This record gives sequence, structure tokens and C-alpha cells, in this order.
Amino acid sequence: MHKVALMDTSGNSLLSGSDGSKRKVCYFYDSDVENYYYGLGHPMKPLRMKMTHALLTQYGLLDRMHVLKPNPARENDFCRFHADDYVYFLRRVTPDSQQELLKQLKRFNVGEDCPVFDGLYSFCQTCAGGSIGGAVKLNHKHCDIAINWSGGLHHAKKCEASGFCYVNDIVLAILELLKTHERVLYVDIDIHHGDGVEEAFYITDRVMTVSFHKFGDYFPGTGDIRDIGYGKGKYYALNVPLDDGIDDESYQSLFKPIMSKVMEVYRPGAIVLQCGADSLSGDRLGFFNLSVKGHAECVRFMRSFNVPLLLLGGGGYTLRNVARCWCYEVYILYTFDKRNVVHFKIFLLVLGFIMTFDRLWKILNLSIEYEYTLHVAPSNMENKNSREMLDGIRAKLLDYLSKLQHAPSVQFQEHPPETQFPEENEDEDNKDERINDDSDVNLDYESATTEKAQKEIVEPKAKVQDSTVAGEADGDYCKFSKLTGELIKI
Ligand SMILES: [Zn+2]
Repeated sequence: MHKVALMDTSGNSLLSGSDGSKRKVCYFYDSDVENYYYGLGHPMKPLRMKMTHALLTQYGLLDRMHVLKPNPARENDFCRFHADDYVYFLRRVTPDSQQELLKQLKRFNVGEDCPVFDGLYSFCQTCAGGSIGGAVKLNHKHCDIAINWSGGLHHAKKCEASGFCYVNDIVLAILELLKTHERVLYVDIDIHHGDGVEEAFYITDRVMTVSFHKFGDYFPGTGDIRDIGYGKGKYYALNVPLDDGIDDESYQSLFKPIMSKVMEVYRPGAIVLQCGADSLSGDRLGFFNLSVKGHAECVRFMRSFNVPLLLLGGGGYTLRNVARCWCYEVYILYTFDKRNVVHFKIFLLVLGFIMTFDRLWKILNLSIEYEYTLHVAPSNMENKNSREMLDGIRAKLLDYLSKLQHAPSVQFQEHPPETQFPEENEDEDNKDERINDDSDVNLDYESATTEKAQKEIVEPKAKVQDSTVAGEADGDYCKFSKLTGELIKI
């Protein structure tokens, strides 16, 4: 039954066509990531990145990507979104010193879900460094797709850790993308609402956020379908609230029509896709019933638009399934679009005549491995998302989108300078070596770090006098919108 939806040939291939083999992919990985440990019994295990990496190696996919070790994000990179005192706290807190910092632990929500562990700050630097680095690579057109499975930490707030997340690498990466792109689309398929990212861009139209998540008595509790953005950002934050047991077919019956419409109306210059794997069937903390193929179908679909794509990790607490899923999602980047499957089969047939039987057998075996070894089958759990409910959600979201007549534009008064980027070192002999530490992304969003800016996220009616964006001479711009407007002045 699921096959009907999964074999849907919809999707859009623009510009370079549908030949997946032409995509250039950068993959960020730091082998030290496996050494970080949230603590005994904690469900978040950075080890899953190593497991994913091992599978990618085993399947020969690393050879097809440019493998890069991320530059650790620096304090001033963090401060482009996070508050100075919060970043300072993260830098100095250690398991030994935390007893002296009880007041700050409480204030910054660090301690329980988000424990202090050895190397916490460098862990944040690695996770954020990969996402920012991916954005820089996309901005410079060094690749079509960038991947950072250690990123996607969507719950972190400006002044607060939340839901196992300390630093919001996604917000930092989007800020980087906004230096080059007028509009950035953020899509979140983690089972939890992407609250931190939504909040950061709630009142701007330069970033559209779309989150598919379980809603109702579930962490973090936000993401109501009625939450749609505010002021200039109205209708640029979309929420798709779902119930337990959603399967591939139900999920895609919302994902594809909604995302097709978003792409048509918003026409983003870049897409950030948070691929939280806790929406898979059998997740330790999740309640959805997606197979790996169903989850990966979201990646295939968003990739099919041929827009620069940043793929990030996120949740995922049944480790073997997380690794399978993220490995399969890399594989899917290289496969032909479904519409070309027939051509591909003919190609294989012809190839069969000219290849030795032995080699052909190896290729077929590999294909079987991808299809079955990495597959996580759905269970027989009840799907609480009725057809009527899904129809209602889809209709509501499409109605919101119909209110957006055209993609908003920003006049680039001054182009941002090219971000200095280190010499590439992803050559075959030196895949995991450190990039030159002297160069890094160079952002300057200092106003994002002020308490005032934060205050005005909650008080969006506040206005500023000078608008940096042409056509906004009435000054109807809150501080935070001004922040994103300022990106073009750097
Ligand atoms: Zn999650």
C-alpha cells in the first residue's frame, strides 16, 4: 500500500536535469565526535555519527563525496545568534565547575535534559562548525549539497539550552546562507517541533520554516497549526501537527503537496532540511511509524528541486536505525530520479551484455543491500491520523500558502563580501584532515546578540527607525527583521 506513494513520480527537476550522478556533495565529519558522551542512560548518543560514517564507508559512499573535517565554530560565530553570557557560560562550564555555577545552570536550562559533560563546548563547536561550513560551501558554489549529520540541533534558543541542544547550528547556518540568498527555506522532519529555528525567524519573510511533527502533550509543546509567523513573517512559519503512528503514505500525502506549493510560491535560493530520525518507526523516544524509505523520500523530493541543499541531522535515538537512515539518505542523493528508473533498467540491461556476469552480479548484490539491509520496516502500530484529519491539515496549509501571492524580494543594496574559505583539503589522500584554522566564516551579526533584539522577538511590535531594506521606508521593521536585513550590508 505504501508503494503507491513512494513510487510517485512527482517532483521537479530544474536546471541541471535529473541525473543524480552530477550532484557534488560535501560531507562534514569529525572523528572525535564519537568521544562525546551525554552520560549514562541519556538517549542522545553522538556515537550514532560514527555508526553512520562506518556504514557510509562500508557502502563506498565516502568515495563519492568531498569529506571535510569541520572548522570548529568560534565564540563570535555562536554570538551571531546566541547571547554573549550564554556562550561564555558554555565555554567555561565543566563537570567539575558546575557546582559553583548553579544559578547559571538553572538560568540557561543546563543540567537535566541538557547535561554538562566533558568537552561540551568543543562538541558544540564541531556540530555548528559543520553546518556553518556547509552553508559557506553552498554559498561559494563549491557543492550542490552539503551534509552535516552532527548538526540539526533545532531546539536550542538564544539564551537557553533545550531538548539535548545547546547551540542552534541551524540558525547559524541559515544566517550564513542569507548572505548570498534572498530567501532560505527550512524544512524539519524530526518528530519534534523545530521550535528554536521557528522562533529565530518568526517575524521575517526571508526565512520560511516548515515543521512536520507530533503535536499534543509532547515535547516541546509548540507547533500548533495556527502558529504561522507574525508581522512581516506572517504565513512564513508553517506547522504540520501530526498524531501517533503516521505511516509513509499518510506522511507523503501531506509532505509532497505542501512542499510543492511552498517551492512554487516561495522560490527559495537555498534549502535547509533537518532530517531528525526520531520520526522513524521504532524510535526510542518517537511515536511515528515511518520506514527509512518513507523518511528518505522527503530527502529525494527536496533534492529533486535542484536548489542548493544543506542536509542536517537532528533527533534519532534507536542508533542502528539512525545510521541506516542517514546512510540511505546519502545513497538516495546519487540515485536517479524515479522517473528515470525505466531508463536506468534499460541501461543496466545493455550493460549486462557487455559486462562479465560476475561484475553484474556484484552490482545487483549492492543494490539489494541498499534496498534491504538499510531498510527499517514500519510496525503494525495504529495510525491515529485519520484521512479526514490529514485532509483538513493539508487544506489549511494550502490555504495559508494561497495567501502568499509571490516570493518576497530583498534588494541587495550592497553585496556581502566573499567569505574567506580555506584551501580545500578533501583530496583522496587527506580526507579527514583539519582545514586551515586561520580562515573561517566571517559573520558579523552583533546586533543579534543584544538582549534588546531578544526582547523584541517576544515583542514584535517594536519598531526601528532606519530600515536597511529598500521599500520599507515606513520603518515597519522590528529589530530582528532589521537583523536579517543587515546581512546584506556586511
Ligand atoms: Zn526530535
